[in-house]
Amino acid sequence: MTTPVGPLGEFELIRLLRARAVPHPGVALGIGDDAAVLSPGRPGSSLVVTTDLLLDGRHFLFSECGAEAAGYKSLAVNLSDLAAMAARPVAAFVAVALPRSSAAEVALGLMDGMAPLADRFGLTLAGGDTNAWEGPLVVCVTAIGEADAPGPITRSGARPGDAVLVTGPLGGSILGRHLRPEPRVVEALALLESAELHALIDLSDGLASDLGHVLEASGGLGACLDAEAIPIHSDAFRLADQTGRPPLEHALGDGEDFELCVIVPPGAASALLASPPGGVRLTRVGTIDDGPGLRLRSPKGKIEPVRTRGFDHLASRGDGDAG
Ligand code: ADP
Ligand code: MG
Repeated sequence: MTTPVGPLGEFELIRLLRARAVPHPGVALGIGDDAAVLSPGRPGSSLVVTTDLLLDGRHFLFSECGAEAAGYKSLAVNLSDLAAMAARPVAAFVAVALPRSSAAEVALGLMDGMAPLADRFGLTLAGGDTNAWEGPLVVCVTAIGEADAPGPITRSGARPGDAVLVTGPLGGSILGRHLRPEPRVVEALALLESAELHALIDLSDGLASDLGHVLEASGGLGACLDAEAIPIHSDAFRLADQTGRPPLEHALGDGEDFELCVIVPPGAASALLASPPGGVRLTRVGTIDDGPGLRLRSPKGKIEPVRTRGFDHLASRGDGDAG
């Protein structure tokens, strides 16, 4: 079915997208046919597939941020999911529902946001779907990556005694950072090369919530976080001035930091912290144990359960924003 997307037209738009897509050894046939054809990965590697759907009014405010930022974020959050599996990006598929009044302009703006990221992380646009309607902008990106053994790294491999590390400061991303996350792809691959990784997750829903997913997936473990060790982003302090809640609570509960939470055996943690591979920024924030749940050790040594909840899309409210 043909969808008029403004002065450009759907087919011209697809031609343009096709001309812009760079070849990739993992993509035998990209944009232009009824479906793309991917080449089998390297022997012993796995294909990793992830999808994120981003809605105007929920994950970005189109009237404020524009198409370029919406495009950047839509691809970046998918790249972050590939990083969280320690996978190398291969291809992306982009399905869009464009606001009809400015469809072509928005489509090109989305591409302007995605193309530099795709180039930087060696990913090619291999297909998608284009629609225009009277509703708000909707962008759905599916990203495919390749994970070499011992990857992909899942959420389920944490063990008691493991160290919990994070790759950057947390909290307050809603003040603007959530639109420009830096997917930690390079960091994840460097970590995979240099250490035994037990579990990985990207921090989309907040450290408390996402580490909770790791604990649950790893068979119902617990963890104790060191309040003083958690790197708090300056945005969390600025946001705390507005909300009246402690900056640490924002660091634990806000979503969309898109840093990695890395679970490694204690010996690997010491080695990584002593000489971080490829300059990866790493902070040890706590230790996995056998429960109960997630706890926080105050500077005075008092241990209390973490009550901060991250974002839950299906709950009526969350402490953080969406991921
Ligand atoms: P079909 O009707 O067979 O689904 P389409 O006209 O939807 O074909 O798509 C033609 C080609 O253009 C396909 O290869 C599809 O993957 C690609 N394509 C369509 N829209 C986009 C888009 N927004 N981004 C990237 N590729 C797209
Ligand atoms: Mg189609």
